[in-house]
Amino acid sequence: MSAAERIPVAILGATGAVGQTFIRLLDGHPWFRVAEVAASDRSAGKRYADATRWIEGDMPADVATLAVKACDPGQVTSPVVFSALDAAAAGELEPAFARAGRMVLSNAKNFRMEPDVPLVIPEVNAGHLDLIAAQRAARGWSGAIVTNANCAATVAAMAMAPLHERFGLRSVFAATMQAISGAGYPGVPSLDILGNVIPYIGEEEPKIEREMQKMLGRLVGTTVEPASFVVSAHANRVAVENGHTICLSMAFETTPTLPEAIAAIREWRGAPVVRGLPSAPDLPLRYRDEPDRPQPRRDVGDGRGMTVSVGRMREDPILHLRMVAMGHNTIRGAAGGSVLNAEVLVKSGVIAGGGRR
Ligand code: NAP
Repeated sequence: MSAAERIPVAILGATGAVGQTFIRLLDGHPWFRVAEVAASDRSAGKRYADATRWIEGDMPADVATLAVKACDPGQVTSPVVFSALDAAAAGELEPAFARAGRMVLSNAKNFRMEPDVPLVIPEVNAGHLDLIAAQRAARGWSGAIVTNANCAATVAAMAMAPLHERFGLRSVFAATMQAISGAGYPGVPSLDILGNVIPYIGEEEPKIEREMQKMLGRLVGTTVEPASFVVSAHANRVAVENGHTICLSMAFETTPTLPEAIAAIREWRGAPVVRGLPSAPDLPLRYRDEPDRPQPRRDVGDGRGMTVSVGRMREDPILHLRMVAMGHNTIRGAAGGSVLNAEVLVKSGVIAGGGRR
């Protein structure tokens, strides 16, 4: 497909950590072309290269020269909008774009738990995208908001999805070790995080405790019936650049043996609609046998950041089983997850464009 045929997309919050990840992932994307970048009044009017403190690798040359726009649907006209906005701005701006007929793929917390807003990891619950029709009817807009979850909730939900599908989760204890890039840019001051662990991340634990049940829930008509398991979360910030690690202890309705639990993870491929999409990894989950894996340093790039690594499945003396999951927070847990959602919407014809299969 030529550059002109690709679907023009805008990135809101393009200057931040997640916004930059969108730009890296969309560079050379076969279906999407970054046509517009937008951010706050601090950045609007500047060249993207001048407004942005670029974090990783080389900035794509065609984006570097774009003028940063204000996040105004009158100025930003692309039909598909990837939002990496701060939650303080997303609450007002994302609905304004949906009202203007745009497909908004959001990373912010604001609308995730609204009953008519899909909260999606496509391999886990692509079917929840059917909520878009109900959302359009209820809100009277021709666009839509589709969200992806908190980055730690995404990693944990993916790792537990095959176990929940086969054995039914009853309760989950989750202790996270979350990377500093999860705090955006410039994020946590170095004197606070170097040689340190911060046992608190504002508003993180409630998100982890409620978002997984929606994603692992069932769509019945136009409603998601959340899964009924209960979650206890401890969220910690650690001196890791990228990659959230989560220790999970789980109790089940039907307790699997260790080999059954490991086999469930190894055999899982997720929803068929995702297979073969440009951003889909070969394996959404990789179970590792080494006793000291997964580790962010070694495993965070698996599947170009889209594979969640799982290991250390063993019996749990309090609940039934325990394991460790790790995934890339700004790729699988944010921008890459949004791009994959958009690819599913192209494939299913909800987003019109030449990439439809
Ligand atoms: P960040 O680095 O702080 O970037 C925030 C972006 O929002 C910047 O582009 C900023 O533009 C823009 N912005 C702030 N206030 C604005 C306003 N009033 N109007 C328009 N734009 C405004 O944050 P981030 O880590 O990329 O996170 C972005 C979103 O993704 C947040 O909602 C976050 O919770 C979510 N998220 C992050 C991660 C992660 O791992 N980092 C994972 C999942 C979800 P300026 O540069 O002009 O200020």
